[in-house]
Amino acid sequence: MVNYLCHVCDKTFPVDTTRYKCECENPLDLTQLKISFPLEEIARRDNNLWRYREALPIASEASIVSFNEGMTPLVPTSSSVCDHRLKLDFVFPTGSYKDRGASILLSKAQEVGIREIVEDSSGNAGAAIAAYSARAGIDCTIYCPSSTSTGKLTQISMYGAKLKLIEGSRTDTTQAVLQATGTTFYASHNWNPFFLEGTKTIAFEIAEQLGWKAPDGVICPVGFGSIYLGLYIGFNQLYDQGVITKIPRLLGVQSAACCPIYQAYHYNQPQIEKTTLGYDTLAEGIVSELPIRSQMIMEAMNSTDGEFTIVSEEEIEDGIKILARQGIYVEPTSAVVVKAFDHFVQTRTIRHDDLIVSILTGSGLKATDKLTEILSM
Ligand SMILES: [Zn+2]
Repeated sequence: MVNYLCHVCDKTFPVDTTRYKCECENPLDLTQLKISFPLEEIARRDNNLWRYREALPIASEASIVSFNEGMTPLVPTSSSVCDHRLKLDFVFPTGSYKDRGASILLSKAQEVGIREIVEDSSGNAGAAIAAYSARAGIDCTIYCPSSTSTGKLTQISMYGAKLKLIEGSRTDTTQAVLQATGTTFYASHNWNPFFLEGTKTIAFEIAEQLGWKAPDGVICPVGFGSIYLGLYIGFNQLYDQGVITKIPRLLGVQSAACCPIYQAYHYNQPQIEKTTLGYDTLAEGIVSELPIRSQMIMEAMNSTDGEFTIVSEEEIEDGIKILARQGIYVEPTSAVVVKAFDHFVQTRTIRHDDLIVSILTGSGLKATDKLTEILSM
């Protein structure tokens, strides 16, 4: 049976408790999983993320909470720079990649008999957790900043979750939910390691879609780092099992409005320092003043020769429009990767013979209010 493990003090804890962090305050990981990738068998299975069954930490089939999600499209672009492909990871039941994490996390909750959960979110994770809770029949309360896009808030409520709107920053929302975690299971997409066990499947899919090969680099938006770390975990597991022969460079993008990881990268700091939100950004999904798994993000960046860049509000708007003119409608947070690609070309991080994958994380249908404003400008 898998347990929680603190990598700082080596303590382990059972997963069927309300504990969400170690006694030393650090986030928990999982004890070593025995995983394998039976490639021929995987090829014959249903086209969803549960095809990587042997690499997922859910023991009982009966506990799986799923909508057959995953295996999102990987499509080529017309880039003249290099082989650049887009992973349409908003093609999910709730409209964002967060369904990957929600499916595994709610399956685990189901497996250990949890009937009630709380979660805090800037919107998409809340919607995913609410939908999978509805699927599992688990009682769910979601805390969101009051500034969250109306589309996301409506979606969460429509799934039947109780919605608590918190005035102030994203950090204030987390402070509010923590008061409820003493008695209720905290299904946090940032604290709970089972969420990353879901997001790691994005690496498995990319590798499989490329014929079990790793790309040279992957570009993704980074706030708390649930894709960035999922990619890191997933590609490392494939590498450890001999399925791929290299780990791609992990290229992160932040909004210039809030960019603690970029600052640590740019100024070569040994660790990520807290920064405050400079101004309201269109990229609401990646506002994180201090990511919880900061240490692991630094480790992922350093060990994959990763890089970070930032984009302005104008660049985010351009990104939205450039994608939409190609028939791809994403929310502002996703669109940060468009100009980030250009930055990485300018810095020669991306070269002509590279195969690069950019990840698009959330549907434009979630942010109709914000996108309508951009259209009218
Ligand atoms: Zn500890």
